[in-house]
Amino acid sequence: MSGILDGKRILVMGVANNRSIAWGCAQAMEKQGAEIIYTYQNDRMKKFIDKLVPDENRLIECDVASDTSIANAFATIRDRFGKIDGIVHAIAFAKKEELGGSILNSTREGFSQALDISSYSLLAVAKEGVRILNNPASIVTLTYMGSDRALPNYNTMGIAKAALESATRYLARDLGHDGIRVNAISAGAMRTLAVSGIKGHSSLIKESESQTVDGINVTQEEVGNTCAFLMSNLASGVTGDVIFVDKGVHLR
Ligand code: NAD
Repeated sequence: MSGILDGKRILVMGVANNRSIAWGCAQAMEKQGAEIIYTYQNDRMKKFIDKLVPDENRLIECDVASDTSIANAFATIRDRFGKIDGIVHAIAFAKKEELGGSILNSTREGFSQALDISSYSLLAVAKEGVRILNNPASIVTLTYMGSDRALPNYNTMGIAKAALESATRYLARDLGHDGIRVNAISAGAMRTLAVSGIKGHSSLIKESESQTVDGINVTQEEVGNTCAFLMSNLASGVTGDVIFVDKGVHLR
């Protein structure tokens, strides 16, 4: 069967387990004909992704908190696979203390760490990525509407997502001449490992579901299909954008 991503090789960063949004993206893109390469954070996370991706050659360690780790990962990808056509950046982290109650609970150290891993890492990955990305290519990151609203408990991560969305626009401006488009998907709330760090995450997800246009939460597959579109040449006119895939929750 022919798909919109036939012949494309795409790097997916951020699969922790089969609930990860990154996994939904990988599955949807594979269905559309893409060849997928994965990075995982560390040995602990490798145990989980090993169960999903049996081909060891496609698994490469990359801790985005370290420039050396990112450089090594991209060098390995280049050696093993040559050029690639896209990168999915589905990575975020903040300490639990940053994700509950008042924003005054934020600390200098926790704030810096959250913005480093959840926002700056997109720039750090793009810096290495441009060396091995084809023309045309596409970069997609994952954001949440806590970037421009003061949602309960989302706190520091909301500020990090605002920075991430801004980084998406600046990258789109500067990589356009190399044929690289950069976009963010603002996904609806769904139950994943990352979300479990947010205080009151069960009610966040319930509340979000009740605010969808049809009362049914968006799925990993729906987010993945949008990612496949953004990776494809069908989206050649879309760059520097934040696309909501949340079944209309952001309308309320
Ligand atoms: P997840 O826990 O499955 O994925 C988060 C990933 O980030 C994990 O694979 C983790 O290993 C990785 N990560 C964290 N620190 C890292 C580091 N230093 N180096 C490399 N990788 C690191 O959760 P998810 O919900 O699928 O999150 C993926 C993205 O989607 C995040 O950016 C998240 O903010 C965003 N998002 C999630 C939701 C939601 O409701 N789940 C909604 C909108 C956006």
